[in-house]
Amino acid sequence: MGRLSANARWGRWLRNTAGVAALSCLALSHPVAAQNETSAPGGAWLTPELKATAQQLIQTATHDRTAYELVESLTTEVGARLAGSEAEARARQWALREMQRLAFANVREEPFKVWHWQRGHEHAAIVSPFPQSLSITALGHSVGTPEGGIRAEVVRFATLDDLKEATAEQVRGKIVFVDEGTTRTQDGSGYGMAVQKRSGAAAIAGPLGAVAALIRSVGTDHHRFPHTGVMRYPDEGAAIPAAALAAPDADQLGRALKRGAVTVQLELHSEGGGRRQDAWTGNDEQLAPSGNVIAEVAGETDEIVLLGAHLDSWDLGTGAIDDGAGVGIIMAAAHLIQQLPQRPKRTIRVVLFGAEEVGIAGAKAYADKYERSLAKHVIAAESDFGARKIWRFQTAFGDDQLAKKDAFLRVFRELGITPGDNNARGGPDLTFLRLAGVPVVSLTQNGWDYFDLHHTADDTFDKIDPEELAQNVASYAAFAWLAANIEGGFRAENAPD
Ligand SMILES: [Zn+2]
Repeated sequence: MGRLSANARWGRWLRNTAGVAALSCLALSHPVAAQNETSAPGGAWLTPELKATAQQLIQTATHDRTAYELVESLTTEVGARLAGSEAEARARQWALREMQRLAFANVREEPFKVWHWQRGHEHAAIVSPFPQSLSITALGHSVGTPEGGIRAEVVRFATLDDLKEATAEQVRGKIVFVDEGTTRTQDGSGYGMAVQKRSGAAAIAGPLGAVAALIRSVGTDHHRFPHTGVMRYPDEGAAIPAAALAAPDADQLGRALKRGAVTVQLELHSEGGGRRQDAWTGNDEQLAPSGNVIAEVAGETDEIVLLGAHLDSWDLGTGAIDDGAGVGIIMAAAHLIQQLPQRPKRTIRVVLFGAEEVGIAGAKAYADKYERSLAKHVIAAESDFGARKIWRFQTAFGDDQLAKKDAFLRVFRELGITPGDNNARGGPDLTFLRLAGVPVVSLTQNGWDYFDLHHTADDTFDKIDPEELAQNVASYAAFAWLAANIEGGFRAENAPD
Protein backbone atom coordinates (compact mmCIF):
# COMPACT_ATOMS: atom_id res chain seq x y z
CA MET A 1 0.00 0.00 0.00
CA GLY A 2 1.29 3.36 -0.90
CA ARG A 3 0.13 6.67 0.24
CA LEU A 4 -3.22 6.68 2.07
CA SER A 5 -6.00 8.57 0.41
CA ALA A 6 -7.47 11.47 2.31
CA ASN A 7 -10.57 9.38 2.99
CA ALA A 8 -8.58 6.41 4.32
CA ARG A 9 -6.64 8.66 6.66
CA TRP A 10 -9.91 10.19 7.82
CA GLY A 11 -11.25 6.64 8.43
CA ARG A 12 -8.20 5.64 10.46
CA TRP A 13 -8.52 8.78 12.56
CA LEU A 14 -12.18 7.95 13.08
CA ARG A 15 -11.39 4.48 14.44
CA ASN A 16 -9.21 6.09 17.05
CA THR A 17 -11.34 6.38 20.21
CA ALA A 18 -10.29 9.92 20.97
CA GLY A 19 -10.99 10.85 17.40
CA VAL A 20 -14.53 9.46 17.57
CA ALA A 21 -15.17 11.36 20.79
CA ALA A 22 -13.82 14.55 19.25
CA LEU A 23 -15.85 14.02 16.10
CA SER A 24 -19.10 13.49 18.00
CA CYS A 25 -18.52 16.81 19.76
CA LEU A 26 -17.92 18.49 16.42
CA ALA A 27 -20.95 16.79 14.90
CA LEU A 28 -23.15 17.89 17.76
CA SER A 29 -21.93 21.43 17.89
CA HIS A 30 -23.32 22.41 14.53
CA PRO A 31 -27.05 21.62 15.05
CA VAL A 32 -26.97 23.23 18.51
CA ALA A 33 -25.36 26.35 17.12
CA ALA A 34 -27.90 26.44 14.32
CA GLN A 35 -30.72 26.04 16.81
CA ASN A 36 -29.34 28.89 18.91
CA GLU A 37 -29.87 31.31 16.07
CA THR A 38 -33.59 30.66 15.96
CA SER A 39 -34.44 29.57 19.51
CA ALA A 40 -31.99 30.22 22.32
CA PRO A 41 -32.00 27.81 25.29
CA GLY A 42 -34.82 29.11 27.44
CA GLY A 43 -36.91 29.54 24.33
CA ALA A 44 -39.21 32.49 23.98
CA TRP A 45 -39.52 32.76 27.76
CA LEU A 46 -36.16 34.42 28.22
CA THR A 47 -36.42 37.74 26.42
CA PRO A 48 -33.19 39.71 25.89
CA GLU A 49 -34.40 42.30 28.44
CA LEU A 50 -35.10 39.66 31.10
CA LYS A 51 -31.76 38.01 30.50
CA ALA A 52 -29.85 41.29 30.63
CA THR A 53 -31.44 42.35 33.93
CA ALA A 54 -30.89 38.92 35.49
CA GLN A 55 -27.23 39.05 34.46
CA GLN A 56 -26.91 42.55 35.85
CA LEU A 57 -28.37 41.33 39.18
CA ILE A 58 -25.81 38.52 39.24
CA GLN A 59 -22.99 40.99 38.62
CA THR A 60 -24.17 43.33 41.38
CA ALA A 61 -24.72 40.46 43.85
CA THR A 62 -21.11 39.37 43.48
CA HIS A 63 -19.94 42.59 45.15
CA ASP A 64 -22.88 43.06 47.51
CA ARG A 65 -22.22 42.48 51.23
CA THR A 66 -25.83 42.95 52.40
CA ALA A 67 -26.49 39.25 53.08
CA TYR A 68 -23.23 38.77 54.98
CA GLU A 69 -23.85 41.89 57.07
CA LEU A 70 -27.42 40.81 57.83
CA VAL A 71 -26.30 37.39 59.10
CA GLU A 72 -23.54 39.04 61.12
CA SER A 73 -26.05 41.44 62.64
CA LEU A 74 -28.72 38.81 63.41
CA THR A 75 -26.30 36.32 64.96
CA THR A 76 -24.51 39.02 66.98
CA GLU A 77 -27.36 41.24 68.13
CA VAL A 78 -29.91 38.47 68.69
CA GLY A 79 -27.96 35.21 68.74
CA ALA A 80 -29.88 31.98 69.35
CA ARG A 81 -33.65 32.41 68.90
CA LEU A 82 -35.66 29.42 69.97
CA ALA A 83 -39.32 29.31 68.94
CA GLY A 84 -41.60 31.07 71.42
CA SER A 85 -38.70 32.59 73.38
CA GLU A 86 -38.00 36.20 74.25
CA ALA A 87 -35.03 35.96 71.83
CA GLU A 88 -37.29 34.96 68.95
CA ALA A 89 -39.41 38.05 69.71
CA ARG A 90 -36.24 40.18 69.54
CA ALA A 91 -35.42 38.55 66.20
CA ARG A 92 -38.80 39.71 64.86
CA GLN A 93 -38.02 43.24 66.03
CA TRP A 94 -34.64 42.97 64.33
CA ALA A 95 -36.28 41.80 61.09
CA LEU A 96 -38.87 44.61 61.09
CA ARG A 97 -36.12 47.18 61.63
CA GLU A 98 -33.87 45.78 58.89
CA MET A 99 -36.71 45.43 56.38
CA GLN A 100 -37.66 49.04 56.95
CA ARG A 101 -34.05 50.11 56.62
CA LEU A 102 -33.86 48.30 53.28
CA ALA A 103 -36.98 50.24 52.18
CA PHE A 104 -39.18 47.24 51.45
CA ALA A 105 -42.94 47.73 51.08
CA ASN A 106 -45.68 46.34 53.37
CA VAL A 107 -43.32 45.42 56.21
CA ARG A 108 -45.33 43.60 58.87
CA GLU A 109 -45.38 41.04 61.63
CA GLU A 110 -48.07 38.33 61.59
CA PRO A 111 -48.30 36.85 65.08
CA PHE A 112 -49.35 33.34 66.04
CA LYS A 113 -48.87 31.18 69.10
CA VAL A 114 -46.52 28.28 69.53
CA TRP A 115 -45.70 25.62 72.05
CA HIS A 116 -42.63 26.81 73.96
CA TRP A 117 -40.12 24.26 75.23
CA GLN A 118 -37.02 25.24 77.22
CA ARG A 119 -33.77 23.43 77.73
CA GLY A 120 -32.41 23.28 81.29
CA HIS A 121 -29.25 21.92 82.85
CA GLU A 122 -28.37 18.62 81.19
CA HIS A 123 -25.79 16.03 82.12
CA ALA A 124 -24.96 12.40 81.43
CA ALA A 125 -22.23 10.12 82.69
CA ILE A 126 -21.19 6.51 82.65
CA VAL A 127 -21.31 5.60 86.36
CA SER A 128 -20.06 2.05 85.98
CA PRO A 129 -17.82 0.37 85.13
CA PHE A 130 -15.76 3.34 83.80
CA PRO A 131 -17.04 6.56 85.46
CA GLN A 132 -16.81 9.55 83.08
CA SER A 133 -19.10 12.23 81.69
CA LEU A 134 -20.72 12.08 78.26
CA SER A 135 -21.48 15.00 75.97
CA ILE A 136 -25.24 15.04 75.40
CA THR A 137 -28.08 17.43 74.65
CA ALA A 138 -31.84 17.05 75.08
CA LEU A 139 -33.98 16.67 71.99
CA GLY A 140 -36.57 19.41 71.56
CA HIS A 141 -39.91 18.67 73.27
CA SER A 142 -38.35 15.90 75.37
CA VAL A 143 -39.72 15.57 78.89
CA GLY A 144 -37.23 16.16 81.69
CA THR A 145 -35.94 13.43 83.97
CA PRO A 146 -37.40 13.01 87.48
CA GLU A 147 -35.69 14.60 90.50
CA GLY A 148 -32.27 12.97 90.92
CA GLY A 149 -32.14 11.88 87.29
CA ILE A 150 -32.37 8.41 85.79
CA ARG A 151 -29.79 5.72 86.47
CA ALA A 152 -30.08 2.53 84.44
CA GLU A 153 -28.28 -0.03 82.36
CA VAL A 154 -27.88 0.79 78.67
CA VAL A 155 -29.03 -1.46 75.83
CA ARG A 156 -27.62 -0.63 72.39
CA PHE A 157 -29.30 -1.02 69.01
CA ALA A 158 -27.19 -0.50 65.90
CA THR A 159 -30.15 0.87 63.93
CA LEU A 160 -33.67 2.10 64.52
CA ASP A 161 -34.92 -0.94 62.60
CA ASP A 162 -33.20 -3.17 65.18
CA LEU A 163 -35.04 -1.34 67.97
CA LYS A 164 -38.32 -1.85 66.10
CA GLU A 165 -37.72 -5.61 66.35
CA ALA A 166 -36.92 -5.49 70.08
CA THR A 167 -39.11 -7.12 72.73
CA ALA A 168 -40.25 -5.50 75.98
CA GLU A 169 -38.01 -7.96 77.89
CA GLN A 170 -34.94 -6.54 76.13
CA VAL A 171 -35.58 -2.91 77.01
CA ARG A 172 -37.75 -2.77 80.13
CA GLY A 173 -36.19 -0.57 82.83
CA LYS A 174 -33.23 0.28 80.59
CA ILE A 175 -31.86 3.27 78.73
CA VAL A 176 -32.16 2.48 75.04
CA PHE A 177 -29.26 3.67 72.85
CA VAL A 178 -29.78 3.86 69.08
CA ASP A 179 -26.34 4.09 67.49
CA GLU A 180 -27.31 4.56 63.81
CA GLY A 181 -25.03 6.90 61.81
CA THR A 182 -25.73 9.63 59.25
CA THR A 183 -24.38 9.30 55.72
CA ARG A 184 -22.59 12.38 54.37
CA THR A 185 -24.10 13.47 51.05
CA GLN A 186 -24.13 16.62 48.94
CA ASP A 187 -27.92 16.81 48.75
CA GLY A 188 -28.72 15.97 52.38
CA SER A 189 -30.42 12.67 51.57
CA GLY A 190 -28.49 10.95 54.39
CA TYR A 191 -30.28 13.17 56.91
CA GLY A 192 -33.74 12.09 55.78
CA MET A 193 -32.93 8.50 56.73
CA ALA A 194 -31.03 9.17 59.93
CA VAL A 195 -33.47 11.71 61.38
CA GLN A 196 -36.13 9.04 61.86
CA LYS A 197 -34.41 7.87 65.03
CA ARG A 198 -34.80 11.34 66.59
CA SER A 199 -38.49 10.74 67.28
CA GLY A 200 -38.37 6.99 66.73
CA ALA A 201 -36.04 6.02 69.59
CA ALA A 202 -38.24 7.31 72.43
CA ALA A 203 -41.46 6.63 70.55
CA ILE A 204 -40.67 2.93 70.22
CA ALA A 205 -38.71 2.38 73.45
CA GLY A 206 -41.12 4.25 75.79
CA PRO A 207 -44.17 2.07 75.19
CA LEU A 208 -41.94 -1.03 75.54
CA GLY A 209 -40.97 0.03 79.07
CA ALA A 210 -37.56 1.70 78.57
CA VAL A 211 -36.81 4.57 81.01
CA ALA A 212 -34.95 6.90 78.60
CA ALA A 213 -33.65 7.06 75.04
CA LEU A 214 -30.23 8.13 73.79
CA ILE A 215 -29.33 8.47 70.13
CA ARG A 216 -26.09 9.02 68.28
CA SER A 217 -26.50 12.62 67.10
CA VAL A 218 -28.06 13.07 63.68
CA GLY A 219 -24.90 14.59 62.23
CA THR A 220 -21.79 13.87 60.16
CA ASP A 221 -19.06 15.48 62.30
CA HIS A 222 -16.61 13.91 64.75
CA HIS A 223 -16.61 16.69 67.31
CA ARG A 224 -18.03 16.74 70.82
CA PHE A 225 -21.00 18.84 69.77
CA PRO A 226 -24.25 16.93 70.25
CA HIS A 227 -27.02 17.78 67.74
CA THR A 228 -30.45 18.70 69.03
CA GLY A 229 -33.66 18.77 66.96
CA VAL A 230 -37.34 18.27 67.52
CA MET A 231 -38.83 14.93 68.52
CA ARG A 232 -42.39 13.85 69.00
CA TYR A 233 -44.08 11.27 71.20
CA PRO A 234 -46.70 8.84 69.95
CA ASP A 235 -50.27 9.33 71.11
CA GLU A 236 -50.10 6.37 73.49
CA GLY A 237 -47.56 4.87 75.89
CA ALA A 238 -44.95 6.32 78.22
CA ALA A 239 -43.23 9.59 77.17
CA ILE A 240 -39.58 9.04 78.19
CA PRO A 241 -36.69 11.56 78.22
CA ALA A 242 -34.67 11.64 74.99
CA ALA A 243 -31.21 13.05 74.30
CA ALA A 244 -28.49 12.93 71.65
CA LEU A 245 -24.87 11.95 72.27
CA ALA A 246 -22.05 13.71 70.40
CA ALA A 247 -20.50 11.30 67.87
CA PRO A 248 -17.27 10.65 69.87
CA ASP A 249 -19.38 9.97 72.98
CA ALA A 250 -21.59 7.53 71.06
CA ASP A 251 -18.34 5.81 69.98
CA GLN A 252 -17.14 5.77 73.59
CA LEU A 253 -20.38 4.33 74.94
CA GLY A 254 -20.29 1.68 72.20
CA ARG A 255 -16.72 0.69 73.15
CA ALA A 256 -17.66 0.47 76.84
CA LEU A 257 -20.67 -1.72 75.99
CA LYS A 258 -18.41 -4.12 74.08
CA ARG A 259 -16.69 -4.80 77.42
CA GLY A 260 -19.93 -5.65 79.26
CA ALA A 261 -22.81 -4.03 81.11
CA VAL A 262 -22.74 -0.22 81.36
CA THR A 263 -24.82 1.95 83.69
CA VAL A 264 -25.51 5.57 82.75
CA GLN A 265 -26.86 8.49 84.82
CA LEU A 266 -28.98 10.97 82.84
CA GLU A 267 -30.30 14.35 83.95
CA LEU A 268 -32.39 16.60 81.72
CA HIS A 269 -33.98 19.62 83.36
CA SER A 270 -35.96 20.77 80.34
CA GLU A 271 -39.35 22.38 80.79
CA GLY A 272 -42.53 22.23 78.76
CA GLY A 273 -41.76 18.88 77.17
CA GLY A 274 -44.23 16.11 76.59
CA ARG A 275 -46.97 14.92 74.35
CA ARG A 276 -48.77 17.59 72.39
CA GLN A 277 -50.65 17.15 69.18
CA ASP A 278 -48.73 19.67 67.16
CA ALA A 279 -46.60 22.73 67.73
CA TRP A 280 -49.41 24.98 66.54
CA THR A 281 -52.39 23.58 68.41
CA GLY A 282 -53.46 23.39 72.01
CA ASN A 283 -54.63 25.47 74.91
CA ASP A 284 -53.68 29.13 74.43
CA GLU A 285 -52.42 29.48 78.00
CA GLN A 286 -49.73 26.90 77.32
CA LEU A 287 -48.61 28.68 74.18
CA ALA A 288 -46.08 31.45 73.69
CA PRO A 289 -46.01 34.26 71.12
CA SER A 290 -44.28 33.68 67.80
CA GLY A 291 -44.79 35.22 64.38
CA ASN A 292 -43.84 35.53 60.74
CA VAL A 293 -42.21 38.72 59.49
CA ILE A 294 -43.04 39.74 55.95
CA ALA A 295 -41.93 42.41 53.48
CA GLU A 296 -42.44 42.97 49.79
CA VAL A 297 -40.93 44.41 46.67
CA ALA A 298 -44.11 45.82 45.20
CA GLY A 299 -44.84 44.60 41.70
CA GLU A 300 -47.30 45.79 39.08
CA THR A 301 -49.72 42.99 39.96
CA ASP A 302 -50.85 41.20 43.12
CA GLU A 303 -49.43 37.90 41.93
CA ILE A 304 -46.75 36.69 44.35
CA VAL A 305 -43.28 35.21 44.05
CA LEU A 306 -42.49 34.02 47.56
CA LEU A 307 -38.93 33.85 48.91
CA GLY A 308 -38.76 32.15 52.31
CA ALA A 309 -36.33 31.42 55.14
CA HIS A 310 -36.89 30.81 58.84
CA LEU A 311 -36.11 33.32 61.55
CA ASP A 312 -36.06 30.98 64.56
CA SER A 313 -33.13 28.71 65.38
CA TRP A 314 -32.17 26.09 67.89
CA ASP A 315 -30.85 27.36 71.18
CA LEU A 316 -27.33 25.89 71.21
CA GLY A 317 -25.50 27.90 68.52
CA THR A 318 -26.38 31.28 67.05
CA GLY A 319 -28.32 29.87 64.09
CA ALA A 320 -25.89 31.18 61.46
CA ILE A 321 -26.17 28.45 58.84
CA ASP A 322 -29.62 27.35 60.08
CA ASP A 323 -31.09 29.63 59.07
CA GLY A 324 -29.48 33.05 59.49
CA ALA A 325 -27.86 32.49 56.10
CA GLY A 326 -31.26 31.96 54.46
CA VAL A 327 -32.58 35.13 56.09
CA GLY A 328 -29.63 37.12 54.73
CA ILE A 329 -29.78 35.53 51.27
CA ILE A 330 -33.44 36.20 50.50
CA MET A 331 -33.47 39.69 52.05
CA ALA A 332 -30.37 40.69 50.08
CA ALA A 333 -31.71 39.17 46.84
CA ALA A 334 -35.02 41.02 47.17
CA HIS A 335 -33.14 44.20 48.06
CA LEU A 336 -31.14 44.03 44.80
CA ILE A 337 -34.43 43.90 42.89
CA GLN A 338 -35.84 46.70 45.05
CA GLN A 339 -32.95 48.90 43.88
CA LEU A 340 -33.62 48.36 40.16
CA PRO A 341 -35.10 51.32 38.27
CA GLN A 342 -37.94 49.12 36.95
CA ARG A 343 -40.54 47.29 39.06
CA PRO A 344 -41.07 43.56 38.71
CA LYS A 345 -44.35 42.54 37.11
CA ARG A 346 -45.26 40.33 40.07
CA THR A 347 -44.81 41.21 43.75
CA ILE A 348 -41.82 39.59 45.45
CA ARG A 349 -42.75 38.63 48.98
CA VAL A 350 -40.03 37.89 51.54
CA VAL A 351 -41.34 35.69 54.35
CA LEU A 352 -39.24 35.05 57.46
CA PHE A 353 -41.11 32.17 59.07
CA GLY A 354 -41.20 31.82 62.85
CA ALA A 355 -41.05 28.54 64.77
CA GLU A 356 -39.89 26.30 61.93
CA GLU A 357 -37.65 24.10 64.06
CA VAL A 358 -40.33 22.98 66.48
CA GLY A 359 -42.74 21.79 63.80
CA ILE A 360 -43.13 24.34 60.94
CA ALA A 361 -45.65 26.33 62.99
CA GLY A 362 -45.05 29.57 61.05
CA ALA A 363 -45.59 27.74 57.78
CA LYS A 364 -48.97 26.53 59.04
CA ALA A 365 -49.94 30.01 60.24
CA TYR A 366 -49.02 31.48 56.84
CA ALA A 367 -50.89 28.83 54.84
CA ASP A 368 -53.99 29.33 57.01
CA LYS A 369 -53.88 33.11 56.75
CA TYR A 370 -53.42 33.18 52.97
CA GLU A 371 -55.57 30.17 52.18
CA ARG A 372 -57.85 32.23 49.92
CA SER A 373 -55.01 33.83 48.00
CA LEU A 374 -52.80 30.81 47.40
CA ALA A 375 -53.87 30.84 43.76
CA LYS A 376 -52.09 34.20 43.52
CA HIS A 377 -48.87 32.55 44.69
CA VAL A 378 -47.19 31.94 41.35
CA ILE A 379 -44.09 30.25 42.72
CA ALA A 380 -42.16 29.83 45.98
CA ALA A 381 -38.56 29.06 47.02
CA GLU A 382 -36.96 28.70 50.44
CA SER A 383 -33.31 28.98 51.47
CA ASP A 384 -32.81 26.64 54.45
CA PHE A 385 -29.81 24.43 53.85
CA GLY A 386 -26.81 26.47 54.96
CA ALA A 387 -24.55 28.92 53.19
CA ARG A 388 -22.60 26.85 50.66
CA LYS A 389 -22.90 27.39 46.91
CA ILE A 390 -26.01 26.43 45.00
CA TRP A 391 -25.24 23.65 42.54
CA ARG A 392 -28.63 22.38 41.34
CA PHE A 393 -31.99 23.79 40.26
CA GLN A 394 -34.98 21.53 40.89
CA THR A 395 -38.50 22.50 39.94
CA ALA A 396 -42.03 21.35 40.63
CA PHE A 397 -43.69 22.90 37.58
CA GLY A 398 -46.74 21.68 35.75
CA ASP A 399 -45.59 19.26 33.03
CA ASP A 400 -46.78 21.64 30.31
CA GLN A 401 -44.71 24.48 31.85
CA LEU A 402 -41.39 22.63 31.98
CA ALA A 403 -39.95 24.48 28.98
CA LYS A 404 -39.72 27.55 31.21
CA LYS A 405 -37.12 25.81 33.33
CA ASP A 406 -34.58 26.33 30.54
CA ALA A 407 -34.93 30.10 30.88
CA PHE A 408 -33.68 29.87 34.47
CA LEU A 409 -30.97 27.35 33.63
CA ARG A 410 -29.65 29.54 30.83
CA VAL A 411 -29.09 32.38 33.32
CA PHE A 412 -27.88 30.07 36.11
CA ARG A 413 -25.16 28.54 33.95
CA GLU A 414 -22.57 31.19 34.80
CA LEU A 415 -23.21 30.48 38.49
CA GLY A 416 -22.34 26.79 38.07
CA ILE A 417 -25.89 25.55 38.67
CA THR A 418 -26.88 22.25 37.05
CA PRO A 419 -30.33 20.96 36.01
CA GLY A 420 -32.25 18.94 38.59
CA ASP A 421 -35.47 16.94 38.35
CA ASN A 422 -39.07 18.18 38.51
CA ASN A 423 -39.71 16.79 42.02
CA ALA A 424 -38.58 19.81 44.06
CA ARG A 425 -39.86 19.97 47.63
CA GLY A 426 -38.98 23.63 48.00
CA GLY A 427 -38.13 23.75 51.73
CA PRO A 428 -39.82 22.88 55.02
CA ASP A 429 -41.80 26.12 55.33
CA LEU A 430 -43.25 25.63 51.85
CA THR A 431 -44.77 22.24 52.74
CA PHE A 432 -48.38 23.44 53.02
CA LEU A 433 -48.11 25.68 49.95
CA ARG A 434 -46.70 22.80 47.89
CA LEU A 435 -49.46 20.48 49.11
CA ALA A 436 -52.00 23.15 48.12
CA GLY A 437 -50.60 23.19 44.58
CA VAL A 438 -48.26 26.19 44.64
CA PRO A 439 -45.30 25.46 42.29
CA VAL A 440 -42.01 25.40 44.19
CA VAL A 441 -38.33 25.21 43.27
CA SER A 442 -35.23 24.12 45.16
CA LEU A 443 -32.02 26.04 44.64
CA THR A 444 -30.03 23.22 46.22
CA GLN A 445 -26.97 24.24 48.20
CA ASN A 446 -23.95 22.02 48.62
CA GLY A 447 -24.82 20.27 51.88
CA TRP A 448 -21.64 18.19 52.14
CA ASP A 449 -20.68 19.67 55.56
CA TYR A 450 -24.08 21.11 56.58
CA PHE A 451 -24.76 18.26 59.02
CA ASP A 452 -21.39 18.79 60.71
CA LEU A 453 -22.84 21.96 62.24
CA HIS A 454 -26.62 21.63 61.99
CA HIS A 455 -28.44 22.07 65.36
CA THR A 456 -25.19 22.23 67.34
CA ALA A 457 -23.43 24.84 69.48
CA ASP A 458 -20.97 25.06 66.57
CA ASP A 459 -23.50 26.69 64.19
CA THR A 460 -21.91 30.14 64.36
CA PHE A 461 -21.19 33.06 62.04
CA ASP A 462 -17.51 32.23 61.42
CA LYS A 463 -18.63 29.20 59.35
CA ILE A 464 -20.02 31.39 56.58
CA ASP A 465 -17.92 32.15 53.51
CA PRO A 466 -18.92 35.55 52.08
CA GLU A 467 -18.19 34.55 48.48
CA GLU A 468 -20.31 31.43 48.66
CA LEU A 469 -23.07 33.44 50.32
CA ALA A 470 -22.90 35.99 47.48
CA GLN A 471 -23.37 33.20 44.90
CA ASN A 472 -26.61 32.33 46.73
CA VAL A 473 -27.78 35.94 46.64
CA ALA A 474 -26.98 36.13 42.91
CA SER A 475 -28.95 32.94 42.28
CA TYR A 476 -31.99 34.03 44.28
CA ALA A 477 -32.00 37.51 42.76
CA ALA A 478 -31.85 36.11 39.22
CA PHE A 479 -34.46 33.47 40.06
CA ALA A 480 -36.85 35.99 41.61
CA TRP A 481 -36.48 38.44 38.75
CA LEU A 482 -37.24 35.81 36.10
CA ALA A 483 -40.05 34.25 38.15
CA ALA A 484 -41.63 37.67 38.66
CA ASN A 485 -41.53 38.63 35.00
CA ILE A 486 -41.80 35.52 32.84
CA GLU A 487 -45.00 35.37 30.83
CA GLY A 488 -47.59 33.03 32.38
CA GLY A 489 -47.24 30.88 35.48
CA PHE A 490 -45.75 27.53 36.41
CA ARG A 491 -48.87 25.53 37.29
CA ALA A 492 -50.20 23.08 34.75
CA GLU A 493 -52.65 25.02 32.57
CA ASN A 494 -55.51 22.64 33.24
CA ALA A 495 -54.75 22.24 36.95
CA PRO A 496 -57.41 23.25 39.46
CA ASP A 497 -56.43 26.27 41.59
ZN1 LIG B 1 -33.57 25.20 59.12
